[in-house]
Amino acid sequence: MWLDCAIIGGGPAGLNAALVLGRSRRVVILFDNNRPRNAVTRHSHGFITRDGIEPREFRRLAHENLASYPSVTVKPDRVVAITPGQPGFMLRTGNGVIYRSRTVILAAGLKETLPQVPGISGYYGKSLFSCPYCDGWELRDKPLAVISESAHAFHSAKIIYNWSKDILVCTNGANSLGADQIRQLARKGIRVNPKRIQALVGENGMLSRIAFADGEEVRREGGFISPLWEQGAAFGEALGCAMTQAGGFVTDDYGRTSVNGIYAAGDSSLIAPSQLVIAAGEGSKAAIGVNTDLTNQDFYMA
Ligand SMILES: Cc1cc2nc3c(=O)[nH]c(=O)nc-3n(C[C@H](O)[C@H](O)[C@H](O)COP(=O)(O)OP(=O)(O)OC[C@H]3O[C@@H](n4cnc5c(N)ncnc54)[C@H](O)[C@@H]3O)c2cc1C
Repeated sequence: MWLDCAIIGGGPAGLNAALVLGRSRRVVILFDNNRPRNAVTRHSHGFITRDGIEPREFRRLAHENLASYPSVTVKPDRVVAITPGQPGFMLRTGNGVIYRSRTVILAAGLKETLPQVPGISGYYGKSLFSCPYCDGWELRDKPLAVISESAHAFHSAKIIYNWSKDILVCTNGANSLGADQIRQLARKGIRVNPKRIQALVGENGMLSRIAFADGEEVRREGGFISPLWEQGAAFGEALGCAMTQAGGFVTDDYGRTSVNGIYAAGDSSLIAPSQLVIAAGEGSKAAIGVNTDLTNQDFYMA
């Protein structure tokens, strides 16, 4: 059977694309191997009507919504290959099943590499986060760390100053700040510690102190880090899609990539800003792009 659309990734981008396509009576399979980046966090914020929701509950509600649309199937399977066909695309999954689809929406999210700090993953999503719009409110007015080995350090500190005035920037041995930037931060009372971090100290993921390589320890109750991001699945480049300098997809307003029939949505398309509501909106736009293009292909046929 031919699918109208195969959606790769069951985060908010893919889920919302499936909802809009299901409501458009399109035959769709949403493939998801359920490894979302935000699985480490307990609560998601900033999505109106869903502020504070657990990521798992968000997905459960989304699947409940999709169950109302009989032309949508959710497959808990990983797509391992997408090959252009004549016409459409052939997809192979980890279970060895082959599917054929007229279009594909790539919504596989991002993979991230955390700063090189021992034990950091135990704190990520609990008291250390990557996005102040998602978790800044909960950390407001606390003594915070900005742990960033990248050129992002200055921007992060500047933005996070809106939530707390007690900020220590930790560059973990990297030269990620210029002398002028350090001066600008100091003017606002933001300190910089360039030394390597030896250990993060705390319980159950809740940070209480940062121990530096020279033995100094500083009390911190949480903070923000700058991870490095890469595509959650490498299909875009393999298919020849044009990519942006930030590592996302070049698309038009309806998620169309530079390759006919391939659409992109969510974090993997935009890279930033990275938010559930934005990813969901992107999924909706890509679905409208797919439905418009399929309609234009079919409408004039006999
Ligand atoms: C710690 C943390 C906290 C966050 N907190 C918030 C918050 O409070 N509020 C907010 O708005 N945003 C928050 N975010 C950001 C938010 O999680 C992302 O912006 C959003 O999940 C992006 O949605 P997406 O659909 O693009 O990708 P994702 O949600 O990452 O979903 C991608 C899906 O694709 C699947 N996948 C990947 N490759 C394949 C494949 N080959 N085959 C099948 N499936 C595949 C993955 O398993 C995953 O389920 C947070 C992120 C992190 C890391």
